[in-house]
Amino acid sequence: MRIIVCVKQVPDTTEIKIDPKTNTLIREGVESILNPYDQFAVEESVRIRDLAGEGKITVISMGPPQARSALMKCLALGVDDAVLLSDRAFAGADTWATSYTLSLAINKLGPFDLILCGQQAIDGDTAQVGPELAQHLGIPQVTYAEKVEAGEGRKIEVHKQTEEGYQVLEVKLPALLATMPPTSFEPGYPPMSGILKAKKKPLEVWDAESIGAHSSKIGLDGSFTEVVKTYSPPSRGECAFLEGEPREAVGKLVEPLLKKGIISER
Ligand SMILES: Cc1cc2nc3c(=O)[nH]c(=O)nc-3n(C[C@H](O)[C@H](O)[C@H](O)COP(=O)(O)OP(=O)(O)OC[C@H]3O[C@@H](n4cnc5c(N)ncnc54)[C@H](O)[C@@H]3O)c2cc1C
Repeated sequence: MRIIVCVKQVPDTTEIKIDPKTNTLIREGVESILNPYDQFAVEESVRIRDLAGEGKITVISMGPPQARSALMKCLALGVDDAVLLSDRAFAGADTWATSYTLSLAINKLGPFDLILCGQQAIDGDTAQVGPELAQHLGIPQVTYAEKVEAGEGRKIEVHKQTEEGYQVLEVKLPALLATMPPTSFEPGYPPMSGILKAKKKPLEVWDAESIGAHSSKIGLDGSFTEVVKTYSPPSRGECAFLEGEPREAVGKLVEPLLKKGIISER
């Protein structure tokens, strides 16, 4: 089983603040982490490889040099090798240019069975890169994929989350899955033995030239869209916290609702 996992290093968005003057993200002092959805994809890839009893997992990230630390975490979690796509020419890429760049690197890696992405990145949050990557590679895709099981021959069974429950899909390989962790998933730390092994695993850095990228198709030049503004919506309405025991708090809630005519006494 040849598996490739795409991961993104993201700011820890629980720490994110927006500068009210410039409307841009304040990145100073904000820790960068492995996108939690991607950590689930990595852990799934290790489970699939170990279940198959053989195989190789390569993890890829397009990002600045500091994205290396996200890749080191993936290596410590059990993937076999890593590729960092890093070049100033990649900067400013929208989701289309990002997925095009990833597809070139994947083609350079050679034949594969499975590509795993996270369902979405917690900063950009578009959930577009996975589906676009499948389009560039010309392979089938399943989004909201929670679990993979072996199927017959060159097929796998994918459990896809839906609003009502799950769909079980039979998928022909090669394919791409955008993985969605179950609510119980907690992205944890790799074991110490994994951290020590990671230091000896291969991590290559590839630039635009080494993947044969055309300058008009990558970075800002290859992007059809541009983020022109980021802002928090103005707060609407009032917010009140009701203190006390539940019965007491409910009592406090009823009175203003009656006054505003939102509820009425019989
Ligand atoms: C400096 C800068 C400039 C930007 N300029 C623009 C711009 O001009 N126009 C615009 O539209 N957007 C711009 N962006 C945002 C950029 O398009 C997105 O961050 C990026 O394309 C990924 O989209 P997303 O975060 O929504 O990922 P999603 O589509 O939500 O991610 C889904 C999955 O795809 C994979 N993935 C996503 N990104 C990567 C990656 N880099 N490497 C490997 N795997 C990945 C992961 O598995 C992830 O879980 C910019 C971002 C930066 C940092």
